[in-house]
Amino acid sequence: MQAYTLIAPAKINLYLEIIGDRPDGYHELVMILQSIDLADRLELQANGTQQFRLFCDHPQVPNDSTNLVLRAASLMAEAFPEAYANFGAINIKLDKQIPVAAGLAGGSTDAAAMLLGLDLIWDLGLTQSELQGLGAKLGSDVPFFLAGGTAIATGRGEQIDPIRDLDNLWIVLGKYNQLAISTPWAYQTYREQFGEQYVNEPDSIASRALRVHSGPLVKSIMQQDPQQIGQMLHNDLEKVALTQYPQIQQLRLVMEEAGGLGTMMSGSGPTVFTLCQSQAEAETLQQKIQTTLIDPELEFWVAKLTNQGIIIENPTLSL
Ligand code: C5P
Repeated sequence: MQAYTLIAPAKINLYLEIIGDRPDGYHELVMILQSIDLADRLELQANGTQQFRLFCDHPQVPNDSTNLVLRAASLMAEAFPEAYANFGAINIKLDKQIPVAAGLAGGSTDAAAMLLGLDLIWDLGLTQSELQGLGAKLGSDVPFFLAGGTAIATGRGEQIDPIRDLDNLWIVLGKYNQLAISTPWAYQTYREQFGEQYVNEPDSIASRALRVHSGPLVKSIMQQDPQQIGQMLHNDLEKVALTQYPQIQQLRLVMEEAGGLGTMMSGSGPTVFTLCQSQAEAETLQQKIQTTLIDPELEFWVAKLTNQGIIIENPTLSL
């Protein structure tokens, strides 16, 4: 029986615009998503039972059915009952490197890895779009990770259009250790404060999405112009997160003043990133930020933008 080790990269949002409400209660979005090489690692091994078991020693990660990894397993068992009956369940060892509730979609990338892992172990031969369809049932960000790289995401974030991948750019990520932002809170608060400006007619929604497609940020990505990209980063959710959490605002300011190409909060936060031209620049910036803002609660990572979705590290035959 096969065992797989999968690498599940995190993402940042180079762009996040909230356009309006959707009939399903979600928000209509236009985003530009970007994979980074800060990643979780999942070891999957068939266990010869009908019970999926998740092992993770991270204190903020639940090992029960609330974990998106186990929800992905249940979804696959429901969708493919014969394969589940024939091949059985698996044990999942999750090595969590992506900070939790950080705006980097760590839970979603783990769920995407689980879908791909079961596709491999159960020998299903699913296409990328079939896997993305299953992923969309688990969360708006999950489909992106099955492709990875650089992509425009529309709808509630689950409709993915890959664009030219960004290469050779780096980021410094900064996050307060104990600070976690709930995504539903961020969107709900945004609705309360800015709901009056929402666009609701389908035509206007489509034209707003198109404006981003043909807009300056996508153009700079196509032209691989790091200076321009850095200047056009955008995230509507900053409007609520920075007001509610002044420490993120302060971190963002210090990171921006330290240099780099541009600074922005990722997703619903609280992680803030600065885009850099090189690893050396990112490391120098990190040192500079750390000496300006001395706080044991602050954590930093340096990561590279990557064109990779879920990576299959080593399919191995086990006993
Ligand atoms: O899709 P996901 O479960 O990751 O979304 C988490 C929450 O974020 C949703 O329950 C909703 O409150 C909010 N959300 C939204 N509009 C989106 C995506 C997420 O309002 N397009």
